[in-house]
Amino acid sequence: MKRVIEADIVVCGGGPAGVNAAIAAGRSGAKTVLIERYGFIGGMSTAALVYPWMTFHTMEGKQVTKGIAQEMVERLMAQNASPGHIRDTVGFTHTLTPYHPEVYKVLAVDMLKEAGVKLLFHCFVDGVEVGDDGRIESVQLTSKSGRMDIKGKIFIDTTGDADLAYLSGAPCVQGRDEDHKTQPMTMKFRMRGVNLAEVKQYMMDHPDEFYSKTPIAELPELHLSGICGFYKHWKEANLPINRDQVLFFTGPEEDEVLVNTTRVQGLDGTNVEDLTEAEELGRKQVLEVAAFMQSCLPGFDKASISSVGAQIGIRETRRIEGQYSLQLSDVVEGRRFHDVIARSGYPIDIHSPSGKGVTSSLIGGDGAYDIPYRSLLPKRIHNLLTGGRCISTSHEALGTTRLTPSCMATGQAAGAAAGIAVRHGVRPSDVNIDELQAALRAGGAVLE
Ligand SMILES: Cc1cc2nc3c(=O)[nH]c(=O)nc-3n(C[C@H](O)[C@H](O)[C@H](O)COP(=O)(O)OP(=O)(O)OC[C@H]3O[C@@H](n4cnc5c(N)ncnc54)[C@H](O)[C@@H]3O)c2cc1C
Repeated sequence: MKRVIEADIVVCGGGPAGVNAAIAAGRSGAKTVLIERYGFIGGMSTAALVYPWMTFHTMEGKQVTKGIAQEMVERLMAQNASPGHIRDTVGFTHTLTPYHPEVYKVLAVDMLKEAGVKLLFHCFVDGVEVGDDGRIESVQLTSKSGRMDIKGKIFIDTTGDADLAYLSGAPCVQGRDEDHKTQPMTMKFRMRGVNLAEVKQYMMDHPDEFYSKTPIAELPELHLSGICGFYKHWKEANLPINRDQVLFFTGPEEDEVLVNTTRVQGLDGTNVEDLTEAEELGRKQVLEVAAFMQSCLPGFDKASISSVGAQIGIRETRRIEGQYSLQLSDVVEGRRFHDVIARSGYPIDIHSPSGKGVTSSLIGGDGAYDIPYRSLLPKRIHNLLTGGRCISTSHEALGTTRLTPSCMATGQAAGAAAGIAVRHGVRPSDVNIDELQAALRAGGAVLE
């Protein structure tokens, strides 16, 4: 017989958004279940080796992401598993936040359990039952224990791919307006045995070979955290990868880097045949890029691959068509919204769906933009909220909301809103915005 579990709030997807959503929901006192397809949490941060978290600050250095995300950073720091927010030596943002992924996996589970959340790992959500009233009644999942039904009052879609919204019939969109192409995928990998002092010296001696905003003059005093460039070496190598630079970040160990340089374009992260091809191409590229780095880049002659993502990193797939779709102009003008639930200072960062480059735009106003509550609310389905990568934005605005700190913040907002909806027996769209903002501020979030 099919097993049934009942909860107040059901969070589907245990990535950065889902973890923070479930912690916020659990802390509200609601009976909360978190469902995750892998045997660990963290989504792209752990399964795809995404690192470091960027960014909690504006370009001027004001911290605009705090809340549960900041609690996590502080607890990681207390365990010597993060140096906290440090200067970004790529120069793309003011700060970035390295962290140890294995400690993060354990810490996040501790925090979920402290919040009273029931965890269901190794469970893939593949069905949704929607009643005539437009409410989700239950989600169905596949597991080693057989099929299960998880019933709930409020559901939160933090699958990154808007799986729950899509399965329930809520309208979704994907990619650029003109051709629905999405940002490329990247297979990330780590190398150890890197001589970072040699890399730093080379950067100081050859500043023109690096990203124009790299703070070369400050490098002697700064911990080298990120490197973008090696334009000459990359061009000469002429690898079959449609990209124009080498990008990597240092840590968590002293001789270690995380390489973000492979690029798989033109494939759809919600199509299983495309995903299969992407995994194959991504892993081949890892070997090619690693061999290039070992033989051509200063400081890499003794380096070797220490790990590769368990899955390819997926930057963009489906997103909901919500009650408000955050636009490029909202971001670059640093627009304020009455129903702000999170802020971010990360610039627009679009890896070209078909070309070699990256398109970026800075944020105006006070250097941060607001994410409105309405962007978490889908159309048509009344008891569903979203958080993270699949909230309602344009393709361009997703170029910033997709970053991990923003996903953590929108996750926290979705969880807090679900808690209020359960407490008052109302739909998420009827949650009082003042009450939600007060709950978020009490949970440490920055809304101004
Ligand atoms: C190549 C790449 C580079 C990036 N670089 C950076 C960076 O340097 N810094 C930064 O801060 N951010 C970066 N990002 C962005 C960031 O990693 C992601 O956008 C972010 O992790 C999204 O969080 P999320 O929780 O919305 O989704 P995800 O991280 O995708 O998590 C979704 C979770 O849901 C689970 N799931 C999915 N479907 C189901 C299902 N049907 N049933 C059960 N579970 C399911 C998944 O296993 C996963 O755990 C990068 C992303 C990529 C791909």
